[in-house]
Amino acid sequence: MPSTRKPALRVGVFGGSFNPVHLGHLVVAEEARVRLRLDRVLFVVAADPPHKRKATLAPAADRYDLVRLAIAENPAFEACDAEMARPGPSYTVETLAALRAAWGRGTKFFLIVGQDSVADMPGWREPRKVLRMAELVVAGRAGYDPASLDALLPLMPRSARPVVLQTRVVVSATEIRDRLARGESARYLVPDAVLGAIARRGLYGTGA
Ligand code: ATP
Repeated sequence: MPSTRKPALRVGVFGGSFNPVHLGHLVVAEEARVRLRLDRVLFVVAADPPHKRKATLAPAADRYDLVRLAIAENPAFEACDAEMARPGPSYTVETLAALRAAWGRGTKFFLIVGQDSVADMPGWREPRKVLRMAELVVAGRAGYDPASLDALLPLMPRSARPVVLQTRVVVSATEIRDRLARGESARYLVPDAVLGAIARRGLYGTGA
């Protein structure tokens, strides 16, 4: 008799400031979707820091809207405001717990991080638990040594290894903010719809 059990949903969790979202993020998310056969990739937008906001950090509501515009044409991509809705600092361990509660136990989570973020992971809250709650997917980033992954291995469940995506899109949100602030073009580094919204809202010095 054929089994009627539904296969587990496979959900990528891609967190960041997305300040603003750019082609590097989109390429990483798409590469992860295809390579890991993900049903969804959630772009989890980091909240505003509770006390003072960094001058270069656009409000979370704007960053979230920009993500929605950037991913509108990909039915597997979804913007997630789970961290924006919670007061105080956001810890990945709490975000994964909230997502597990929302998506149900039959969901398998994949945590997608850029190689630069891997170095910070040992300092995260409960990194071992994070690495048990989701499979780790690391996106290669130009200028980062593959040996930087070694620091993670002692924190990972036995015999687990990160999946490494060979993406090499040399673009960062810092570069985009700098270009916009100098009045230079960021076209083709950021989707057109996102650039339009940035200009209309006067974000990143475009209104000056
Ligand atoms: P900033 O320049 O402001 O530090 P960023 O471009 O690194 O920003 P974030 O929103 O901080 O963007 O990144 C979210 C996640 O995406 C992080 O895990 C980061 O490592 C990863 N990421 C961002 N850009 C790239 C890229 N070009 N290639 C691979 N990973 C990336």
